[in-house]
Amino acid sequence: MTEIEYKIYIDDVIRRVETARLKVSGHHIVKIVAVSKYSTSDEIARLYSIGQRAFGENKVQDLKKKSHTLEELPLEWHFIGNLQKNKINNLLDINPTLFHSLDSIELAQELQKKLAAKEMTLDCLIQINSAYEESKHGFLPEEAKAAYEQIMTQCPNIRLKGVMSIGAHSEDKELIKKSFETTYEIYKTLPNATICSMGMSQDFELAIECGSNMVRLGSIMFNK
Ligand SMILES: *Cc1c(COP(=O)(O)O)cnc(C)c1O
Repeated sequence: MTEIEYKIYIDDVIRRVETARLKVSGHHIVKIVAVSKYSTSDEIARLYSIGQRAFGENKVQDLKKKSHTLEELPLEWHFIGNLQKNKINNLLDINPTLFHSLDSIELAQELQKKLAAKEMTLDCLIQINSAYEESKHGFLPEEAKAAYEQIMTQCPNIRLKGVMSIGAHSEDKELIKKSFETTYEIYKTLPNATICSMGMSQDFELAIECGSNMVRLGSIMFNK
């Protein structure tokens, strides 16, 4: 794809996000995080050059490499993957804009310790396993609210901003929708929650219609 063709292609993706958000309301603003895990630094720079600022990675090592290679650009980095305890310090050294996938009390406690030691705070979302899938990380819907409140009171350096979910892994649109609705219902009950991160390349329009205000788009943003 030439530069112009890519720009037209991205305009079309943005138009799809626009159409979905306007179905909710003119006031419903949706942010796109471009998930660059399958993409090179050059591809990220190309997307930046046509206006994208927020990028997400799911491995600390990749985040470190790409954010370093692209440090001249004013990018916003999101961490969206499973965080192992022995990688916390590496993540904090990068100081990401948002950690989407806080998925256990144990991890929150460990993260709190490391943040306090560095006198840092970190904006975080709790991940909710709203489709009850074995293969997925996150709090179960029935434990999410209590966990959120526990982290809020016990982990002052963690700034909780809301929730993140991955839609049900299914061909059945109703099942996927149900998983998004489950997450959104919890989101609405949480104190100070302003970010509902759900929706990927295959299901972002449905996620937005269910209340998502942050979509994590990988393959579609990089035309893979
Ligand atoms: C890879 C990934 C995405 C993006 O996936 P696509 O289907 O390529 O859009 C979004 N969220 C998480 C947590 C991911 O790991």
